[in-house]
Amino acid sequence: MNKRLVVVTGGASGIGRGVAEAFQSAGDRVVIADVDVRAAHDLARELGAEHVELDISDPGSVDAALALVTDRFGPVEVLVNNAGLAGGGGPLVGLDIGVFDLCMRVNFRGTFLMTRAVGAHMLTAGTRGSIVNITSIGARQPTPGLGHYEATKAAVEALTRSAALELAPHGIRVNAVAPGPVLTPMTAGFASDTAARAAWEARIPLGTIASVADVVPSVLFLASADAGHLTGVSLQVDGGQLLT
Ligand code: NAD
Repeated sequence: MNKRLVVVTGGASGIGRGVAEAFQSAGDRVVIADVDVRAAHDLARELGAEHVELDISDPGSVDAALALVTDRFGPVEVLVNNAGLAGGGGPLVGLDIGVFDLCMRVNFRGTFLMTRAVGAHMLTAGTRGSIVNITSIGARQPTPGLGHYEATKAAVEALTRSAALELAPHGIRVNAVAPGPVLTPMTAGFASDTAARAAWEARIPLGTIASVADVVPSVLFLASADAGHLTGVSLQVDGGQLLT
């Protein structure tokens, strides 16, 4: 297999870290792109990968990071739009507007900016690339206190479909992976609370919260030639939770 250049946003932690490790060990060349540049640097060094400082919500940062990556390493063939946050939770009535704005700015605006920039780059380079967005089953199934976050993921699912349609004539595929709850630093607070974790797991037909390793193979599959006829899909990795 040819080495592909793979950019993983938010690649320094959690799901993104698992995705970066898996692409790198499959023989691809990975760029860990993260606002936490120290963590990105350290992980890149550990894996023999590359890293770049990136704030996906800032157009200047997106343009600078993409210019640096393409100048140094060549055309991007795979983009994993993984960076995201919840920014806190709480009932819709009374939710701090700052929490809403941060979540929207990073999860939706950031994914839009990255898709727009890397999409343009792939068109110019003539790359028949692949973009995989990490959304959430929350885009389709509500959990009280997470409405602001879930709305951003529903927006990214809509963007996935429209980008897939627009870019398909150029051989660029755009898909999503929608996890249910996953054990990562983002969820460590809930997961360490025994009662909260039991309540979460009671909603999952397969009975357990996912590990990062449960989610990673779907991302690699959607980016692979085996998924060459798939575009605009959202693959739920949720232990059956959306069936309930
Ligand atoms: P995490 O907090 O472990 O990692 C997120 C990474 O994104 C961090 O390295 C962070 O520095 C980086 N990041 C944050 N803001 C950024 C920005 N503006 N620009 C660049 N990088 C930025 O989180 P995680 O649980 O691994 O989540 C990864 C993705 O998966 C997110 O999009 C999240 O919404 C989604 N997701 C997570 C779960 C879950 O239960 N953990 C479930 C469904 C979806």
